[in-house]
Amino acid sequence: MSDAPPAIELRNLRFSYRTGPEVLHINELVVPTGRKVFLHGPSGSGKTTLLGIIAGVLLPTASEATQVLGQELSALTPGARDAFRGEHLGYLFQLFNLLPWLSVLDNVTLPVQLHPQRLARLGGEPAESVARGLLERLDLAAFVHTPVTELSVGQQQRVAAARALIGRPSLLIADEPTSALDADRRARFIDLLFGECEAAGATLLFVSHDLALGQVFDERLSLPDLNAAGVR
Ligand code: ADP
Ligand code: MG
Repeated sequence: MSDAPPAIELRNLRFSYRTGPEVLHINELVVPTGRKVFLHGPSGSGKTTLLGIIAGVLLPTASEATQVLGQELSALTPGARDAFRGEHLGYLFQLFNLLPWLSVLDNVTLPVQLHPQRLARLGGEPAESVARGLLERLDLAAFVHTPVTELSVGQQQRVAAARALIGRPSLLIADEPTSALDADRRARFIDLLFGECEAAGATLLFVSHDLALGQVFDERLSLPDLNAAGVR
C-alpha cells in the first residue's frame, strides 16, 4: 500500500485558456491513494479547470509533474489520455452528461461496455446486475427503464453517480455533484460515494463551493490557498 504512487501529484503546474489570464499556478498538490479530499473555492476560482487537467481533458500550459495514478498525463497522446480516463477514472460532471437516448440502466452500464478493464473489475458479475445494485442504493430502483429525460434533476444526478462508480474506478472526481439534491439526499449520496470508494480502495476528489459539506472528508483543501494565480 505504502509503495503505491499518490493518486494525484501536481508540481509547478500552470494553466491558461487560449485567451485570458493565467487561471492556475499550483506549486504542489499531492493526494495519497484512498484519501477522500474536499476541494472548495468560490465560483470562477478554477475548480472545474483543475479537474479537467486531472482528468486529462485539458493539458497544463507548463508543469513539472501532472501525475495521476502514477501516470504522467503529458506523456500520453490525446487518445491514450481518453482511454486512461475511461478505464481508471470516474468523472461525475456538474452537468451530468447523461445520454438522453439511452435508458437509465444503459447509461449506467455504458462505461463498462466501452472500457474492457472496467468490465474486468466487475469480476464476472453481469454489468446489468451491478448497475441495478448501484441504482438501488441510490433510491433509483424504480427508474431502471425510465428515459433519462423523464427524471428530475436530482435523479439524473444520482444516475450520473452510478455511472461514474461502475467498474470501480481508482479515482473518482466529482464536480459539485450535490447541487441539485436536498439536504437529506445529499448526506446519503455522500455516504454512498464514501462506501463505494472504500470498497474499491478508490481516491475521491470532491469539489464544492459549499464548505458545510466538507466536514466528513479526510482532508479539506482551499483552491485559492493552493493557487498562486488566483490572486486577482
Ligand atoms: P470554477 O469551477 O471554480 O467555478 P472554472 O474552472 O470554471 O471555475 O473557471 C475558472 C476561470 O477560467 C474563470 O475565470 C472562467 O471564466 C475561466 N474559464 C473557464 N472555462 C473557460 C474556457 N473554456 N475558456 C476560457 N476561459 C474559461
Ligand atoms: Mg465549476
